[in-house]
Amino acid sequence: MQPLVDRYGRVATDLRVSLTDRCNLRCSYCMPAEGLDWMPGDDQLTDDEVVRLIAIAVGRLGVREVRFTGGEPLVRRGLVDIVRRTSALDPGVELSITTNGIGLARTAGALAEAGLDRVNVSLDTVRPDTFREITRRDRFDDVVAGLAAAEVAGLGPVKVNAVLLRGLNDDQAPELLRWCLDRGYQLRFIEQMPLDAQHGWSREGMVTADEIFDHLDREFTLSPASEPRGSAPAELFLVDGGPATVGVIASVTRPFCGDCDRVRLTADGQVRNCLFARQESDLRAALRAGASDEDLAGRWLVAMAGKAAGHGIDDPTFLQPDRPMSAIGG
Ligand code: SAM
Ligand code: SF4
Repeated sequence: MQPLVDRYGRVATDLRVSLTDRCNLRCSYCMPAEGLDWMPGDDQLTDDEVVRLIAIAVGRLGVREVRFTGGEPLVRRGLVDIVRRTSALDPGVELSITTNGIGLARTAGALAEAGLDRVNVSLDTVRPDTFREITRRDRFDDVVAGLAAAEVAGLGPVKVNAVLLRGLNDDQAPELLRWCLDRGYQLRFIEQMPLDAQHGWSREGMVTADEIFDHLDREFTLSPASEPRGSAPAELFLVDGGPATVGVIASVTRPFCGDCDRVRLTADGQVRNCLFARQESDLRAALRAGASDEDLAGRWLVAMAGKAAGHGIDDPTFLQPDRPMSAIGG
């Protein structure tokens, strides 16, 4: 076993696997209304190829958590089978998915039965009209049904991810938290990052963690949770003394790159050592050219060694990566 260590001594044990760049929503902070040119089918790893690369990461490179994401992972036809095969790996892994929740009402049971442990569902508002405005689709009820089904299927504790946008839903932070608390969902706010396909992000336009606290302070008393944050990106706070918590992932204003334990695999088989990396390492070409597991593991180790110290968003020379969030896997 050779851990995925970078030159700063960080060890990646948490693998994010994007299963598709396609999506059935069009969140304004992620992609344009007309969608994107989706990845050609042949470029995408097959189910067997995905499972083989995950098996290498788990069996040879010390990965202990696998999260499926996208695009929208629930639109990937082979998802349940990929989950089943990943959950059968030895040693076992923590297996989760980040989804917009559409279709989860139908698949939550099958996913849990296949070995999925947990879900994160993205939901930025509990008002159907604001949902339609942000996602450009009228699917609020589907997401709510998906959340409920996940809970019933035992995919808890169910986490909800929310991005706040100025003038759209930033004033709704307290009502979203109340809604999640009432249902036992763990809410985490994520600062908007410069990863949208349209390059519309601006530092001035984003809602900062400090603003999120100001909004929540209007209705709740937050106090730091005692458990250490470790490599988890979310800073956790007790709500009104606890035990319920709310998380804030302040990737931009309070970066946690120094504790990062993540590595990413895109749907077309590129290793990305950081969300914001401008370089990728092509495992698909090597895999399709007949590379052995040992060779692929070696390439993965090299890819990780070159990980940058931080994302550099505040650096004047910062350049947004060519791939948008939906093609990297958030
Ligand atoms: N489609 C799934 C979903 O929405 O959960 C999985 C992929 S999505 C890219 C993963 C997460 O990234 C979601 O929680 C979404 O809200 C978040 N996200 C997308 N674009 C973002 C951005 N520009 N800044 C911060 N978070 C973003
Ligand atoms: Fe789709 Fe997720 Fe991007 Fe929204 S954030 S458009 S649900 S990939």
